[in-house]
Amino acid sequence: MDARYHVEITRQALAGHLDEAALHVVVRANLGQDRLTKLVGHPEIHFDDSAFAAGEAYIADQRRQAVAALERNDRTAALAAFGRLLHGRQDFYAHSNWVALWVASRGGLAHCSPDQVEICLDPRLVPQLISGVGVPWHFIAVRVPLLGRLARRTLIPADSHEAMNLDHPGRGPLFPFAMAAALQHSRLELELLLSSLRAAGTAMILIDDSLSAP
Ligand SMILES: [Zn+2]
Repeated sequence: MDARYHVEITRQALAGHLDEAALHVVVRANLGQDRLTKLVGHPEIHFDDSAFAAGEAYIADQRRQAVAALERNDRTAALAAFGRLLHGRQDFYAHSNWVALWVASRGGLAHCSPDQVEICLDPRLVPQLISGVGVPWHFIAVRVPLLGRLARRTLIPADSHEAMNLDHPGRGPLFPFAMAAALQHSRLELELLLSSLRAAGTAMILIDDSLSAP
């Protein structure tokens, strides 16, 4: 998912729960996941290559890191772990065929809208679910001026990240479904983290309670 959409979803999901400084830490950590060193060879961070079990394990590990950080009173580290976790959660909807399968199950685009989209609670249990294979030269090929469009049509296989992604609106009508599902699931991730933190007695250190007031 392109950076601006990670930012948009993250800010919208956490609005009213975190102060601006905390939001900044979460957003920075989220965007840091798309650094080159975390892109190449790390399908679990972006839910590429159908690495669903590894992706879920990565998210669970970041959640544990967030709880552990707050237990030692390191709020910044907790917020950063949460930002890393959200990145993967949001990429899942942009990199897999989840929303395509969901829309097809509703009879197609004419019969459903993004506000109805459901989230995927466990990708390991969904038959036919796949996500794009990330190949660095595909990434480069489709961005070559003039030749990129030809490369997309002739050289890029259907299961490639470049063929499947819903990273921005230019990828077509499924993009708003990916955005809506990613937003919904980001909100759920906040709830999941807070319930882990409540169990550890540290939830109030993470969220700005004054912002949560109705
Ligand atoms: Zn990513």
